[in-house]
Amino acid sequence: MTDPSSLRVLPARFAPPASGLRDHDVFVGASILGRAGEWMRAALPDARRLHCIVDAAVDTLYAPGVYASLQDAGFAVTRSVLTAGERAKTWETAGRLHEAVLDARLDRHDAIVGIGGGVTTDLAGFVAATYLRGIAVVHVPTTLLAQVDAALGGKTGVNLPRGKNLAGAFHQPRAVVADVATVASLPAREFLAGLAEVIKTAVILDAALFADLEAVADVAALQLDQPALVDLVARTAAHKLAIVTRDETEAGNRALLNFGHTVGHALEAATGYSRFLHGEAVAIGMVAATRLSEATGHAPAGTAERLHDVLARAGLPTAASAVRAAEVLDKLQYDKKMKGGQGRFVLTRGIGSATVATALPDEIVLSCVESVLR
Ligand code: NAD
Repeated sequence: MTDPSSLRVLPARFAPPASGLRDHDVFVGASILGRAGEWMRAALPDARRLHCIVDAAVDTLYAPGVYASLQDAGFAVTRSVLTAGERAKTWETAGRLHEAVLDARLDRHDAIVGIGGGVTTDLAGFVAATYLRGIAVVHVPTTLLAQVDAALGGKTGVNLPRGKNLAGAFHQPRAVVADVATVASLPAREFLAGLAEVIKTAVILDAALFADLEAVADVAALQLDQPALVDLVARTAAHKLAIVTRDETEAGNRALLNFGHTVGHALEAATGYSRFLHGEAVAIGMVAATRLSEATGHAPAGTAERLHDVLARAGLPTAASAVRAAEVLDKLQYDKKMKGGQGRFVLTRGIGSATVATALPDEIVLSCVESVLR
């Protein structure tokens, strides 16, 4: 049963509206999947067919409730099931999904539904952005990471052999239904990796949220604490929406969301994308970025220690063993080249505030990166 008091509706209103951008709502609550049909019908008044792209991990757990609700709302529903995980996020998978959507005879008025974690919502968004030159997509994210980050903001894509997310498109969803009850079945490690993005948002934008996270006595217990999760997901998602509705394509402030990601991506690449979950690498990257913020005078002393404490209490990694600094720096150089030669770092100016800095002294960057490599 849906407890109406637990439902938060977050509006994503693009201003000024540009072509291709659609205002939409993000629904956050506990046990709300039964209402997906009603909300998607409102978002997709002309659609007859929906093709669901579903993470196999949730295909029998939660997806049947979504299908029933969509059918009750008058949609004809078909589905493709994916074994999710980063290795599935390829051009080949997207091609197979296009074939399935063709088989399901979707036309321009119809829509794709992504049900699963960030891999599934990124793929569903990419297929929707490219099928018939773009049809609508709606998301039902089922990992904490997808609820606070991946399903929001319209970035879609696939990995190429040379790196993650190298092909993609901006394609905003028409609605997002984030049910925190689905988070209960996540492996604990995946839950914590999602929590790293919540902590990131608090560091760059919300000192009160950070203080609330510092006050959590038992972080592991959060996974089953639905009222607390509704609150955390809604607050984090609202920040992301506030940024992307002002800066869809990362011309300005959206870059702040990459806090911890420069070193995080380099660590993921240096370890073959197999050792760390994305959120774990971002946790380590945030420690490096906060030390860099202190060392360059952007953040007051003690900021890195506060962040380190919150991450460590959550059981997230704060350093990486057996990784060579040279490898990480090599990947950072690659990142720099991809951004036109400018090494850019998102730094914190103290908990709750962030800025983008360029041209930082190489030796300080090096020492902060080395400080997170044991
Ligand atoms: P994921 O989609 O691989 O899901 C993690 C694991 O959890 C998978 O094994 C999946 O099968 C399983 N799973 C999903 N929901 C479950 C549930 N409710 N119960 C039990 N198991 C469940 O990973 P993720 O962390 O959700 O997303 C990572 C992806 O998101 C990456 O590809 C990353 O690039 C992308 N991402 C995109 C954006 C964006 O803006 N588009 C932002 C951040 C991350």
